[in-house]
Amino acid sequence: MKDWRVPVLTYHGLHAPGWDYHENDHVALEQDLGLIDELGFKVVPLSVLVNHLFCREDARLESGKFVAISFDDGSDFDYQDFSHPDWGYLKSFRNLLANWPQLGWDGCAPRGTSFVIASPAARSELDQTCIAGKDQWRDTWWREAAEDGLLEIANHSWDHTHRSLKSLVVGPEHRGTFRLIRTMKDADKEILQAEKMIREKTGGQSVPLFAYPYGELSDYLTDEYFPSRTDWFMAAFTTAGEPVTRESERWKLPRFVCGDHWRTADELRQILE
Ligand SMILES: [Zn+2]
Repeated sequence: MKDWRVPVLTYHGLHAPGWDYHENDHVALEQDLGLIDELGFKVVPLSVLVNHLFCREDARLESGKFVAISFDDGSDFDYQDFSHPDWGYLKSFRNLLANWPQLGWDGCAPRGTSFVIASPAARSELDQTCIAGKDQWRDTWWREAAEDGLLEIANHSWDHTHRSLKSLVVGPEHRGTFRLIRTMKDADKEILQAEKMIREKTGGQSVPLFAYPYGELSDYLTDEYFPSRTDWFMAAFTTAGEPVTRESERWKLPRFVCGDHWRTADELRQILE
């Protein structure tokens, strides 16, 4: 199909500084799923989308309107409802998807993809420094989530080169940016090591997809590293704010980010239409 395009929408489980659409990704997703349904879209999992693009064409994806959904950073709030200290009870992304059993592309419930941070030490430190310090950034739900069919688990690097970590698995010059990952040694520490850990923790049920931390990439990663690691990975995602099309590049698949590329339901409507 000539104009084939699939917007990939991204939400952050930890983005909840308020209770309105534009300041709470859980509130936003709840409304957005209604809009997606109203506009006649179905939700296709990222792994199926990538497979369709680069491996095996699936005729069912050639006609109709599709959107894909991903979640970044992998706190417990992707999977489990929680009580926010200021905003009260919030539904997890997984449970919001479960409210729309008719939205899946194949007649099943819609499936999103959680890109998780692999390192247990990094998650534990971030739990203390970035959120409430209540042990809410665990990997105990990954396998269960992958098995129950509403979330795919995928790779968002070893430690996100997160700006608030005391030490990184790569050097301190990488703090707060992923753009400087330009050697196989560093890339293996941040990407391959994470992949092995995530596969182990999910009993081999994760999907071989990567999302660049901060949406930042380097020519080395897209032109050399990932093409040399196709035995491990199928595709990598940026946050370039465009739909995936037939012309999209395997190691630079674009996504839209809630709060950056749209802040209201009307803005999302414009992206989808
Ligand atoms: Zn992230």
